[in-house]
Amino acid sequence: MKTGYFTDPIFLRHDTGGHPENAGRLEAIRAKLESEGLLARFAQKSSRPATEQEVGLVHTIDYMHLVEEAALSGQQFLNTPDCVISEETYSAALHGAGAFVDAVTEVAAGRLENAFLACRPPGHHAEHQEAMGFCFFNNIAIGAAMLTRELGVQRVLIFDFDVHHGNGTQHTFEDRKDVFFSSIHQHPSTCYPGTGYEKEKGRGDGLGYTLNTPMQPYATDEDYLEVFHNLLLPAFREYDPDFILLSAGFDAHRDDPLAQVNLTQTAFDEMLTGMKQLALDCCQGRLVSVLEGGYNYERLSECVASHVTLLQSDPA
Ligand SMILES: [Zn+2]
Repeated sequence: MKTGYFTDPIFLRHDTGGHPENAGRLEAIRAKLESEGLLARFAQKSSRPATEQEVGLVHTIDYMHLVEEAALSGQQFLNTPDCVISEETYSAALHGAGAFVDAVTEVAAGRLENAFLACRPPGHHAEHQEAMGFCFFNNIAIGAAMLTRELGVQRVLIFDFDVHHGNGTQHTFEDRKDVFFSSIHQHPSTCYPGTGYEKEKGRGDGLGYTLNTPMQPYATDEDYLEVFHNLLLPAFREYDPDFILLSAGFDAHRDDPLAQVNLTQTAFDEMLTGMKQLALDCCQGRLVSVLEGGYNYERLSECVASHVTLLQSDPA
């Protein structure tokens, strides 16, 4: 069975001008995969717009219409200058969510081994009815909600290793235990969005099913991998997920311009290898990974090429 690789030309048409989150990111990834002859290894999938019902699993319909109107009316940004918007932003954001729903559906049905989504705009900062941090619709939250509410999956694990806390994803699920959300990120006292403290552990039925591990600026591969192997993986194994989702941001790389963590590709590879093994041990390998941040084109494209190669390769 193959790894699905979901992407679509519409993701290039979310036009953000000179903003760090721009189409050049996906173009660099594409060029790298083509130059290494990697694309043919995957089941290549395009996307379709998510329906109102699908987006409505996480966002309000009023908010959907707000994004649509802002895009079509020529507004320059939504809510914050961080969230640059263009005429095709709404369509691109809907296609990202639609791709995520299709990816989890295909993996859940056993038609794909696992999947990666190279899409933009990213999603993990998007709140219930608020665009934040370059994000409009929360793709991974929509995917997790689809799994638990529509596809009968009982326990979904989301691991977010983007250097920024996945606030929107956490807030979507913090009062539920059928979605375990874990984020490793630069400490919120030094980094956007200013949430993701260790003390944020969920609430009500969800208490204990949010696990934040903030890391100090200049944290290294060793620092991350110690936390990953000694704290995170044991907690994930205890949860015994039925499906694993990854918010794969590569902006904790030492060469990334937007944050101060000092990882190399080694740490990203080792974390993915651990998550893939966990998926094989707990849930027949069922895993879907989605691109979030990563703003140094060269490093981003190298890390993604390695990420999808590891996703696709046979288990050791
Ligand atoms: Zn980020």
